[in-house]
Amino acid sequence: MACTNSATGRCRSTPVIVDPTLPMRPPTRAPRVLLVAATTGYQIRSFGAAAERLGAELILATDRCHRLDDPWRDGAVPIRFHDEDAAVRAIADAAAAAPFDAVLAVGDRPALIGALAARVLGLPAHSPAAVRVAGHKLKTRMRLRAAGLRTPWFRSIPVDRDSGVLLDRVSYPCVVKPLGLAASRGVIRADTPVELVAAVERLRRLLASPEIRLLRDPANDSIALEEYIPGHEVAVEGVVTDGELEIFAILDKPDPLEGPFFEETIYVTPDRLRLEERRDVVEQVGGAVEALGLTHGPIHAECRLGPRGAVVIEVAARSIGGLCSRVLRFNGPAGGSHSLEEVLFQHTLGRPVARHYAVAREGAAVMMIPVPGAGICQGVAGLDAARAVPLVEDIVITTKPGQRLVPWPEGASYPGFIFARGRSPEEVVAAVRAAHDRLTFRVASEIAVTAAMG
Ligand code: ADP
Ligand code: CA
Repeated sequence: MACTNSATGRCRSTPVIVDPTLPMRPPTRAPRVLLVAATTGYQIRSFGAAAERLGAELILATDRCHRLDDPWRDGAVPIRFHDEDAAVRAIADAAAAAPFDAVLAVGDRPALIGALAARVLGLPAHSPAAVRVAGHKLKTRMRLRAAGLRTPWFRSIPVDRDSGVLLDRVSYPCVVKPLGLAASRGVIRADTPVELVAAVERLRRLLASPEIRLLRDPANDSIALEEYIPGHEVAVEGVVTDGELEIFAILDKPDPLEGPFFEETIYVTPDRLRLEERRDVVEQVGGAVEALGLTHGPIHAECRLGPRGAVVIEVAARSIGGLCSRVLRFNGPAGGSHSLEEVLFQHTLGRPVARHYAVAREGAAVMMIPVPGAGICQGVAGLDAARAVPLVEDIVITTKPGQRLVPWPEGASYPGFIFARGRSPEEVVAAVRAAHDRLTFRVASEIAVTAAMG
């Protein structure tokens, strides 16, 4: 889908078209852009490449500087994501020494730090309050309902409350979810009271795990329950500029995501929605962005086409995560091909992007490879055969031999990604599936591995 205003139908003023090739500031120095990110993010490399291509300087603010293996680490600002005040102070101190022209972020928590930093530095970004609401499932629901948008019934309970009290005020199927986690982690469907009690117990155990407690997020002291919305799911990728939403692409999720757990599988573009479905998605997502108060920066939304029409599941104040952004490739004003990160880089520097960059008209898919089982990954076979599947562009295995694989709902990371590009969405989906069929992960049970080592 081209990123035109007609796609959103939400243009409030006539955009001023500025030649994006013109520099925005006197060419006395390269623009300095702060990137708030966890060091494990793949998108960091992509933003690094964008900075290089655009002649900008990228400075990282991150919580694990010593782990960085990339050249632009020099001068990284060390922060802790759970200590927002100290993180913002550290960024402000760095800016006092050498000012930043813009702020970018990778991930949910970094998006909040980025928003807080941008406010202190006087740079345009989503407001911290809006980013907080978008990152909190219950607050999001309340906002969307207050704005008159389609909303499932929902409620929340303290994590330590006896789940028996829930049962009389619930209809089925429903979904249990954590308020502050991401990547579908801890999201469980329940079709009966027995399943609901089991789902709540399971989520409770996850939230009590040391790894989650370490995040020190008060949102993890409660859990949410909401109506299950059946139907096809799509993701919506876009950017907001001074309150005006521009949609880059709607991505279909062609596999049925019916639970009981909701790990993602395939994203594909262009979407195959009917015109009225697309309008409905755009209207609901546009309404949600406005209701949440997300006014300047990237957004990534999820939406289900339920029996009553499009229902927004959530809107994140960031772009599509990690390697998946590769599925979107943009045609630029001078005809070249550009990454999403490059487009977002231009956007944060105040350059108009929606009118100038359009998602390439091609079929493109990414498969987030399903976790093959719980245990220790011992390796993967069949990579050459999988890479040889026509239209497969790349396969990236991110899990390392010896690494623990944790399936959903406790887990939250995929062992790898398969990318395909071609003419139609159907053929690229078939290609990623065929490539996946050729892969075999060897997974050993943790007990077996421990016994062998002992
Ligand atoms: P996260 O922030 O962890 O991604 P979401 O609220 O987006 O959590 O839920 C993850 C996935 O679970 C969604 O993409 C969707 O597939 C499924 N899901 C969540 N809530 C519902 C719901 N109310 N009805 C149906 N499916 C849901
Ligand atoms: Ca989500």
